[in-house]
This record gives sequence, C-alpha cells and structure tokens, in this order.
Amino acid sequence: MTVAQSYTIESVASITGGVCYGKENLIVKTLSIDSRSLQLPEEILFFALVGARHDGHLYIKDLYQKGVRAFVVSNSECTDLKQYPEAGFILVPDTLCALQNLAENHRKNFSFPVMGITGSNGKTIVKEWLYQLLNESYSIVRSPKSYNSQVGVPLSVWNMNSEANLAIFEAGISQPGEMDQLSKIIQPTYGIFTHLGDAHRENFKDEVQKLEEKIKLFSSCDSIVYCTDNKLVDESLKSRYGQNKELISWSRNQATNLMVVSEEIKGNRTFIKTKYKKETKEINLPFSDKASIDNAITCWLCLLNLNVDDETIKERFLKLEPIAMRLEIKEGIGDCTLINDYYNSDLGSLGIALDLMNQQQKDKSKTLILSDIFQSGYTNHQLYKAISKLLEQKKINRLIGIGEGISSQSKLFTCNASFYRSTDVFLADLNRNQFKDEIILIKGARNFHFERISNALQYKAHQTVLEVNLNAMVHNLNYFRSLLKPSTKLVVMVKAFSYGSGSTEIANLLQYHRVDYLAVAIADEGVELRNAGITIPIIVMNPEPHSFDTMIEYRLEPEIYNQTICLEFEKALKRNGVRNYPIHIKLDTGMNRLGFVHHDIDTLLSLIVSNDHFFISSVFSHLAGADEQQHDDFTARQINSFTQWSDQILSQFSYPIDRHILNSAGIERFPQAQFNMVRLGIGLYGISATHQEKLMNVSSLKTTISQIKEVSKENTVGYGRKGQLQTDTRIGVIPIGYADGFNRKLSNGHGKVMVNGQLVPVVGNICMDMSMIDLTNTDAKEGDSVLIFGDDYSVSKLAEQLETIPYEILTTISRRVKRIYFQE
Ligand SMILES: *Cc1c(COP(=O)(O)O)cnc(C)c1O
Repeated sequence: MTVAQSYTIESVASITGGVCYGKENLIVKTLSIDSRSLQLPEEILFFALVGARHDGHLYIKDLYQKGVRAFVVSNSECTDLKQYPEAGFILVPDTLCALQNLAENHRKNFSFPVMGITGSNGKTIVKEWLYQLLNESYSIVRSPKSYNSQVGVPLSVWNMNSEANLAIFEAGISQPGEMDQLSKIIQPTYGIFTHLGDAHRENFKDEVQKLEEKIKLFSSCDSIVYCTDNKLVDESLKSRYGQNKELISWSRNQATNLMVVSEEIKGNRTFIKTKYKKETKEINLPFSDKASIDNAITCWLCLLNLNVDDETIKERFLKLEPIAMRLEIKEGIGDCTLINDYYNSDLGSLGIALDLMNQQQKDKSKTLILSDIFQSGYTNHQLYKAISKLLEQKKINRLIGIGEGISSQSKLFTCNASFYRSTDVFLADLNRNQFKDEIILIKGARNFHFERISNALQYKAHQTVLEVNLNAMVHNLNYFRSLLKPSTKLVVMVKAFSYGSGSTEIANLLQYHRVDYLAVAIADEGVELRNAGITIPIIVMNPEPHSFDTMIEYRLEPEIYNQTICLEFEKALKRNGVRNYPIHIKLDTGMNRLGFVHHDIDTLLSLIVSNDHFFISSVFSHLAGADEQQHDDFTARQINSFTQWSDQILSQFSYPIDRHILNSAGIERFPQAQFNMVRLGIGLYGISATHQEKLMNVSSLKTTISQIKEVSKENTVGYGRKGQLQTDTRIGVIPIGYADGFNRKLSNGHGKVMVNGQLVPVVGNICMDMSMIDLTNTDAKEGDSVLIFGDDYSVSKLAEQLETIPYEILTTISRRVKRIYFQE
C-alpha cells in the first residue's frame, strides 16, 4: 500500500452525491469494507456494504469503539450522532455504488499508464510477474492479492498516488454486466488478456458472451496484448478493436508480433526462443509448466513493447519467482504455530496476514518476524511508525525485525523487539528454545529468503500430511449459505476432529465467518475448542452425565434426548447453582437413534415448563435418508412429524425457540424445511448430495516416495509375500500405512494412489506405517509427491473403492498425520 491522497468527509460526500452528518472535516486516507481488518482506524473511511447475508451497518458500533470515525452508510437510522458524537457519516442510496464512484473519481487525478489485466486464469500471476519484472524501472501501484471484483477493484484503484508512474490492476467478473463498471473505474490505457477458460461459465449464455463481456475492459485502451492462438479471442479482439487500437500479440503457430520458435524444457527450466521484429530473442525461465510459460510469454511481450532492453529482460526473467497465492499455516517447534507469508511484503498484505493471525488462536502469544518493506511510498520513518501502530492494535507481543531499514527505526517499536541486519545474521544467532507455545507470522520481502527461517522453525513431521484448504472450506460454507434464507441460523458440525480436518483451526475459521453454533459429539471436544478461544455457542450431541459439571463450567449446551438425561442435567445445574441454562431437545422422528418419541413429549413438557434451571434454546430432529431420493416419502413424513411435535412444544412457551432438522443433504434437497436453523456437516468438507460441482475439495492426503527399488519378477513384496509380481517391477515405498488411516482393504491392487497425475496400484499388503506401490510405468523419482486422495482423485472415489462413505475415510485419518492449512 502506498500513500493515497487524503479526502475530507465533505469532499467524499460531494463526489458520491451523499449527505453529510456530524463531523464533516474528518480526514480519511484508507477505505475499508471489512469490520475485521482495521489498520489505522482514525484514517479509515468505512463503507457499510449490504449483501444477501451481510450488512456492514451492524458493525458500526463495534468499529466506533475501535476508533473508526468515518462511515458511508445507506441506512439513515445508523447516523445517530448522540450515540456517536465524534463520527462523520455520509448517507448515500447505495454504499457499493458510492465506493465505486469514489474510486472512479480518484482515478481521474492520474495520467500515468494503467495496465488492465483480465482473462479466466493467470490474472494475478501476470500482474505479480509484471510487478517483479518492472519494479526496478517504475514506481508501481498494483492490486493487492487477487483484488479484482466489484469491491476489490475500487479498493485497488484507491491506492493510486502521485508518487507512482505505473499502475497494474486486474479485473475479474462472474456475470454479464459487471465489466462496464470495472472498466469505468480502472480506465486502463494498456490492456492485457491472459487466457480464456471455463471459470465462471455458468452465468453466461456461452463462451462468446463471456469473452465479449471480458474484453469490455479494454474500451479505453490504446494497446492490447494477447495470444492469437485461441481463435475466439483473436477474432473477437480484432473485430471489436482492430480498427482503433494497437493489437500486440504472440503466437506459437502464426506470424505475429512475437513468434515462439522453440521451447525446450530441461528439469524445472524452459528455454524459449522467439522472433520479435525480425530479431531472435531468448529467455531462460525458471518454470516448466504450460500455464507459467504462457503467462511468462505474455509478460515478455509487454516488456519488449515497453522497450526494455534484451539484457535486462534476460536477467529479470532468470530471477522470476513463483507467486505464493496462499499463506501456509504449519506446526512449528515448541508447540508453536507458523504462518508463512514470505513472497511479498507491503503494508496491505501485512494487515491481511495479521488478521489471519488473530483469527487463529487468539489467546496465544503473537510473534512477528518481519523484513524491510520496499517501495511503500513512505519514508522509513513514516512507514515503520505506521507499522508500529498497527502492531499495537493487533496486539503483537514480540517483533523480530530483519533488515537495515527496519533496524534503523528500532526506536519506534514499543513491543518487545529485536533487530538483525540480515536473515543470515538472524539464523546464525538463532536459539530455538526462545520460541514456545506462540503463534509466529513469518512475513518478508522475497529477497530476504524467509523460507530459510520457516525451515528452521518448522516441526519436522513425518512426510505424510493432510492438506486442508481453508479457502475451499469458506467457499463451501458460502455455497450452503446461499441456499438459505438470510435469517436462517447455521450450526456447523465439527464433531470427530471436524470430520478429520482439525479442531481449533477449523473452529476459529468458522467463528471468524460468524456461524451461529458449533456442534461436537462429546464434551471433551467442546472443552478443547473453548481452551482455544472459541466463544460462540457449542452444542454437545452426546452429553454424558459424568461430564455435566465440565460442560456447565465451559458453557457447553447439551442435547437432551430422554427423561433420564434431562433429570441428570437438572441435578447438575442445581449442584452448580446455575439457572436459565440453554438446552436443545432432540426428537426422534424416524432415525430410531437418540431422541424423545411422540408419546414422551408430555412428560418432557412437565419437566421443563415452569422449571427455571433451563430453557429450551432449540428443538430438533435428524433425517435418516435426506441424501437419497428413494427415501423422499419417508423424509417428508419425518419433516411432517417434526413440524407437528415441535409445534406442540413451542405452544407451551412464551419465549422464542429455534427449530432444525436439515443436515447438509437436507439443505440441498429440502430447503423448504429449513425452519429457522440448519446443521451443516459433510458439505462444508466438500461432499455434496446433489451438486458436487458447486463445491471445492477441502482435504488432500499426501505423502512422498521414500525409496524406489527394481524388484525382479521371481520376488514377492511385503508381509505374507502377498505381492506376487508378474514382471520385473519398480517398487516405490511410501510412509503411510493402516495406522495412518490408509485402509488395509486397499492392499494388493484394490487401492490406487496418484503419482505425478497417474494412478498406480498398491502392491502387496499395506503395513502399519508403510505401503508399496507399482511405479513401473512412471518416471517417478524418490521424493516425489503421492496423492492418496484430493483434488485429482476424490475421497468419494476412494470411498467407492472401499465400499464405504467419505465420512469414514475422512474421520479415520489418524491424529499423527499432520494437518497443514492453506489460505489464500
Ligand atoms: C453429523 C450430524 C449432522 C451433519 O450431517 P451431514 O450429513 O454431515 O451434513 C447433522 N445433525 C446431526 C444430529 C448429526 O449427528
């Protein structure tokens, strides 16, 4: 982030056509739409955006308490100057439009070149690579992360400032009509089209409509860079812009501005030769996959077009680095949690990473290892003063600053801080014992090579890991939310270690995303969550009398399923002197598991009506066959019984009681029965009963090849000599066995695993900690990654193979398999 101009509230009001209330002279510098990410509150202008399930107006009180003073709102009831005497409000009809208008207006102050990038894939990579390739020649403003949406674009453009001389923004759309708006805000002078693919196809009539919409971005451009090899792209751009814009293109198979002559892949590198203006040009690229090569050639053409000389180009491409699109959360030494984010460093992304840190394990002590930040647009003094303030707000306990710049400003930091001139100096001095039970954010500019620090602090786990993609989980959460009425409450099931994916990390994420309840199976699981700082209500589905005192102490709410449990719990409440405790009544409408049946209801009511020890927070039941059409009549009867029985209960109480019967499959298949609450389980973890394509895979079980050996055909492999070979075989040994949850029924070819995109069979019996696989028809090497299940080989397929359900596979991955969390 760089210095943006400051605006008074009054001037923002006049730009956005809003009306000012309260303090009109407040000066704002930063725009914010997320009540959770606050950098310097007194400089923030908060836009209360309103979405289907989100209303920013609800957070004004909280924000005001945190020091935010300036608000753009669309609800006039919020502009209460008695309650907020120091605030300045701008009342507008639509807060998103106001945000976009403000950015559009801000953009008009600058006349330096603006690159606008769009396409289905590669936008962020091309943007970040152009930044890497050009930042020694220009002072660049660019979109943070993948900020390319209706909200992300205005926030990006806001960063334009008079010290910059080039801007690079990306624009992404998911439905017709959206690009006009983005194009007006960015007003690019230089267009880049990366790639046309399948992403977001569902909202468009066809490929042509989607493409036509995307290229609207370029209407203000003088030149457009693209690849002619996709005919549709080539034709559309030529017919729309061929007359009045300079089209600059590259191709592998036709004569155009930049012709690829040869591509030679050696290991991880690619040597590319091209012809440009009749001259042969070469680069040596530190990547070898097709997408990276394509994106690199697009960037190369931009550099040639900007007249960067060949030597400089060669040098800069050699140094090109992968874009880490995600933060990694890993287990560190001494019970620490590491958050790795060392591929870019600026004030904006530091704020995002600090928020993630706060979202994880609030109560642990927080350490930040931070390198110098370059090209902030601030002086070192201003920059580190702002960072120091930020660290105070985010309650960072300890700072380790690495680099000359940050060291020179050491006096500005009030927290426990130490400084080192370079990564080498820090590592030479490193005492691993100084890190204990804390959460450590490792955040640095790429040339500091903080991966070395992460390596030093990482817990050296066994090579088998379960990777959990937190973004995918949020995506799935949002998908299920989109099927619900905005007012419907959401319980998320995190029983059995969140279906195998982890406990506190997942619960923290869900709390952050404001689900209403978590549900666990037994009290101990709830205690673990409370100890990790989870404060939202937690329901215990199988409460046991011996744990009732603990449950009351930790505010865990029981499912009450019969008279005995009800009386026992009442005793516990009396014993603890507690009144008015929430309980959840379970009705058995056909599952024939726990729950009151119809003729128990009168007894139940007699126990609870006019008993002030507890109150009924909710009444619920569970469907036995929500995922299968063959049971739909039965399901309808269950829903019907539930409606009647719960009506009977509710009629006896004057206070509101929530009702819920739907699990994940129920939410997808019977949304009309959502009452006012639902219970999401397997869907969050990526399995759908009806719309698998709407969900993203969350968990991937991965291991690596420990050893490879050539075994001739007269030999056998493994215990019981079950691995009989037909031919000479290349055997790979992988460090995963049945003790990790790799089911022994997959032995002897019943199971397959994926190596470099290819499925290969298990050979012989699976052992406790190891297994053998057939690598004969692959070029796999020791150390290569092996996928047991994940994106390319789904847990559902594996479940079919084992004649079981994904639930069982996910929940039987043993706790010794390390969980690694990713977040973009
Ligand atoms: C596990 C569970 C759920 C969630 O079921 P999914 O099929 O995973 O969505 C809902 N309700 C109850 C009572 C459960 O035990």
